Amino acid sequence: MPFFRPTWVEISQEAFASNVRSLKKFIGPSCQILAVLKADAYGHHAASLASLAIKNGASLLGVSSIEEAISLRESGYKDSLLILGGIYPFENFSAVFEYDLIPTVASRESVLFLKKMAEEKKRRYPFHLKIDTGMGRIGMTVESAKKFIDEFGKDEAVQLAGIYSHFASAGEDVEFTLHQLELFKDLEKYVMKSEIKNVFFHMANSAGTILFPQSHLNLVRPGVALYGIQNIPLPRSVELKPVLSWKSKAIFLKRVPAGTPISYGRSFVTKNESEIMTVPVGYADGIPRSTLNKAMVLVKGERRPILGRVTMDHIMVDVTGLNVSIGEEVVMIGRQGNGFISALDWAQWAGTISYEIVCGISKRVPRMVVA
Ligand SMILES: *Cc1c(COP(=O)(O)O)cnc(C)c1O
Repeated sequence: MPFFRPTWVEISQEAFASNVRSLKKFIGPSCQILAVLKADAYGHHAASLASLAIKNGASLLGVSSIEEAISLRESGYKDSLLILGGIYPFENFSAVFEYDLIPTVASRESVLFLKKMAEEKKRRYPFHLKIDTGMGRIGMTVESAKKFIDEFGKDEAVQLAGIYSHFASAGEDVEFTLHQLELFKDLEKYVMKSEIKNVFFHMANSAGTILFPQSHLNLVRPGVALYGIQNIPLPRSVELKPVLSWKSKAIFLKRVPAGTPISYGRSFVTKNESEIMTVPVGYADGIPRSTLNKAMVLVKGERRPILGRVTMDHIMVDVTGLNVSIGEEVVMIGRQGNGFISALDWAQWAGTISYEIVCGISKRVPRMVVA
C-alpha cells in the first residue's frame, strides 16, 4: 500500500543477511541456527526476512504463535517453522498440522493430544520438548523430562525432533547461566545414551550464543542479535549491523519567541527565540512518552531534543540554528550524516530494553525494504 504520511521504517535486508552469516561463521559447521522471527521479527517485518534467513545459513525459524506462523506461510515461506509458545487450547494442534508447523510440547497432556491427531492423520509428527532450567516459564523439569522421554522418545506417531531450554540471564549472570546449562546437559547426556537419534538440542539465545560458546550444542536460537541491537560487547570475529531505521520528515516549521509553551501540559517553555519543527510521529507509532526531556532525533546529522511531551501523532523538535526546510528528513533510529541513534539509545531514555522499542513501533508505520 502506498503511504502518504512521511513516517516510515526502513529494513536493510543486506544487514540482516550479513548478521545471519556472521553468526553462522561464529558458531562453526557443527552447529545450526534457528532464527527467531517472533513479533513480526521484532518489528522488522518477518515476511521480508524469513527466506533470507534460510538463504544465509539459518536452518529453521521460530515464531511465537500459530498466528505468526500462518502469516509467514501466507507470505510464501515454506521451510521449517517452530512455534516457541505453548499450544493451547489443544484443538489448535489441527492448525499446526494444517500449516505444517513444529509445535513446542511441555506436558504429557499436550503430547497425548498431538499423538491422537497424528494417528488419525497417519503421519509421524515432529515436536520439540521444552525444559525449564531456571526461567520459570513454560517447560518441564529435567527429571519429568526423563520420564517423558522414556515414554514418548521412540513413539511411532510423534517424533521427538528437538529438546530445548531458555536462559534467564545469559547477558548478566555467568554463574546462573552455567548452572542452567549444566542441568540441560545432564538431560542431553541422558538422551545421547538412549537410541533416540537426530534430536536438536538448543538453549542459547543471542547472549548465550555470543558469550557462551559451550552452550551452542547443535542449534542456537538468536533473535535480537540478528537485528543488530544486542546490548552485549561482541568478540572481534562477530560483526552485527543494525537492520532497522526509523525516519520521518518535518511537516511544519515555525519561529517562536522566548516564553512559548510547547505541547501538552506546557511542561516545556522556550528560553530563547527558537525554531521548532513538528514531526508526524507520536506515541501511537511507538515513541515512548516516558522519554520526556531525554529523547533526541537526528536532523542534518545532529542530535536535537524533542521538546515537551510526546503526543499521540506528533513530536516537536528544537531545530534552532540548523536552517532546516519543510520536508527536512528526521531520523528517530538509524544513521544520518555522522549522527547515529540506536534502539539502545531509546531504550536508555525510556528505561527499557531495545526489544521493547523495536517491537513497539506500531503497525501503522509502513516498513520499506531497502537493499
Ligand atoms: C525470544 C526468544 C529467543 C531469542 O532471544 P534473543 O534474546 O532475542 O536472542 C530465543 N528463544 C526463545 C524461546 C525465545 O522466546
